[in-house]
Amino acid sequence: MKKDIKDLNLDELKQYFLSINEPEYRANELFHAVYKEKKENFHDITTLPKSLRKTLSNTFYIYSFKIISKYESKDGSIKYLFQLSDKSLVETVFMHESNQYGKMRNTLCISSSIGCPLGCKFCATGQMGLLRNMTSGEIIEQFMQIDKITKINNVVFMGMGEPLLNYDNVKKAIEIISDGNGRALGKRKIVVSTSGIPGKIYQLTDQISSVRLAISLHAGEQSKRDFLMPGLKDHTLTELRKAINYYTRKTGNTITIEYLLLKEVNDTISDVKSLVDFLKKLKFVKVNLIRYNPVPHVKFKVSKKEIMFLRFLQENGIRATLRKSKGPDISAACGQLATKLRK
Ligand code: SF4
Repeated sequence: MKKDIKDLNLDELKQYFLSINEPEYRANELFHAVYKEKKENFHDITTLPKSLRKTLSNTFYIYSFKIISKYESKDGSIKYLFQLSDKSLVETVFMHESNQYGKMRNTLCISSSIGCPLGCKFCATGQMGLLRNMTSGEIIEQFMQIDKITKINNVVFMGMGEPLLNYDNVKKAIEIISDGNGRALGKRKIVVSTSGIPGKIYQLTDQISSVRLAISLHAGEQSKRDFLMPGLKDHTLTELRKAINYYTRKTGNTITIEYLLLKEVNDTISDVKSLVDFLKKLKFVKVNLIRYNPVPHVKFKVSKKEIMFLRFLQENGIRATLRKSKGPDISAACGQLATKLRK
């Protein structure tokens, strides 16, 4: 059976070429052709000898996904539904939006697993359970498929799955797409959005410190967070805060706290006070308040307390912005479309 060439980083490719009696530098040529020139099959990589191209195409493939649906939102975001080689479905969302300086940028929201074991109550992916983790090649393919169409400036791991529960494959995918011999997307242009697994935050800080981190907090009070995010009950907010402080101290990066506002669940004055208490013990922090994008068969409703929440945070000296959900008309919240189509 053929293997995914994107599962090999540059060092592994060099080892492979040495094992077939080819010089190491062939790995750099191949990396450049696949990631920079975006060649779709080995026969087109004319920097490699013909016999080697044949060996490669008998052993590996470059792309395997099928785009089975593409949904365009009125707000410009586009959701792609990919079918993987084992027929699993995965979602990737393209967003064209302005950054804090008003400059337009192309951001791709990518997935790291099919389903998710953490079962957050407001999340469509969480309702699926974990079907399987994605390989590094599959994580990269989402990026490459869209980057071929439109150049991507930023990547956020905010699609289906908890990226830190598939740590090794996510780390490898980040290393490959940021490798200077290939696509060279800066690590600072990559955001890993996690529900907050303290041990893995320490590991990420020590191993891939340049990437930016976002934490899906959704409650500053332990019992409320345990209710909304039951898969994280084993990790306390105190442990999480220590891990966040380790990341910000060691990297000097600002951390983004994501807070999804749910009507009468986590949007009261006492909720915002708990959030402020949690945040006051952190340095270099900003908050994104997110408007809820309703999920079918999930009972939560959109909060109308956004402005009260925003003002309270700002009055307490906390940088905060209000972010609308992208593509509510195309089921853009993570996992909604894949769940719908699987059913
Ligand atoms: S919100 Fe993220 S961590 Fe929670 S169930 Fe959904 S995908 Fe998993």
